[in-house]
Amino acid sequence: MANERQFSAVQSGLIERYRTWLPIESGDPVVSLGEGSTPLVQAPVLSARFDCEVWIKVEGANPTGSFKDRGMTMAVSKAKAEGAQAVVCASTGNTSASAAAYAVRAGMKPIVLLPQGKIAKGKLAQAIVYGAQIVQVDGNFDECLTVARKLAEAYPVALVNSVNPFRLEGQKTAAFEIVDALGDAPDLHVMPIGNAGNMPAYWRGFKQYADAGKATKRPRMWAVQAEGAAPLVLGHPVLNPETIATAIRIGNPASADLANAARDESGGQFTAVSDEQILAAQRFLAAHEGIFVEPASASGIAALLAAHAAGELESGQRITITVTGNGLKDIDTALSGIDIRTEVVAPEAMAVADAIGLA
Ligand SMILES: *Cc1c(COP(=O)(O)O)cnc(C)c1O
Repeated sequence: MANERQFSAVQSGLIERYRTWLPIESGDPVVSLGEGSTPLVQAPVLSARFDCEVWIKVEGANPTGSFKDRGMTMAVSKAKAEGAQAVVCASTGNTSASAAAYAVRAGMKPIVLLPQGKIAKGKLAQAIVYGAQIVQVDGNFDECLTVARKLAEAYPVALVNSVNPFRLEGQKTAAFEIVDALGDAPDLHVMPIGNAGNMPAYWRGFKQYADAGKATKRPRMWAVQAEGAAPLVLGHPVLNPETIATAIRIGNPASADLANAARDESGGQFTAVSDEQILAAQRFLAAHEGIFVEPASASGIAALLAAHAAGELESGQRITITVTGNGLKDIDTALSGIDIRTEVVAPEAMAVADAIGLA
């Protein structure tokens, strides 16, 4: 009883909400921070532009600011059930923030491997403040993941990257929430893709709900990469992935096979967008729909804007777009290339009116 109370959150998380759909046993501890149940927000400006019904799933509203919390509540609960004392992950940032939070919540030690110098400052701050043991590795994300896997094989630490099967089980609940909110599946679901765990997780969720009669159809899955890190579009690994969207700066996706299957089964596609398109989409979404997301999260919006501009987006569709992480995680990139006003005016309405062109 004391234990149960220790692990409960005031807002019950996704394990409680979707328990019957998840591989969780009645005796398993539930390590939760109240994740899931994120807003599905209508996008009137994008809807009008595309002549479609567009909805945005705002995953930055999760406890540590990204969808990774959905997988982490499952992975850490299972690691706790198995008696693990520590968890390890390789991370481009959000996995480390999430793993650290859920591990300390469970009384376990978080160990995170970060590619040296390639992580957004907000995410690094999270890992530090949650108290993770951080090791910067002289290599990229793909090399970090190889090391993390070997570490978990040789030492008593649980691997909580998305190659952990419980991660995808937790992450599929976002698809459940979309169908529960809309009353059916969308025609098209668009999202960023990096290490390729989340897209097949959504596909699994959409499929399970359709099989159970909770939706009349399944969406086409459209997953978007950055041009400099587009192994799934190219069909082969990229040795030195480069993009400002650090969360999807991955050259050799661990779950590529699952993602290829999800694309094929759903009649979907992989496409890539440039860093410029990503930054423009990030600003568009913030300035027109009031949603501030991190760069990787804007890639789905960027792909839709580009397809529409090219006359390749069919009108009349119901489209859902997942934006995966919160904009505050990477303010350096958000502000890059923007001229922040340095002019200081007198504390008078006239002076301010003058400065903003009202006078
Ligand atoms: C992890 C992450 C992704 C990529 O998800 P995968 O499951 O690795 O494909 C995209 N955006 C953000 C913000 C992320 O943290």
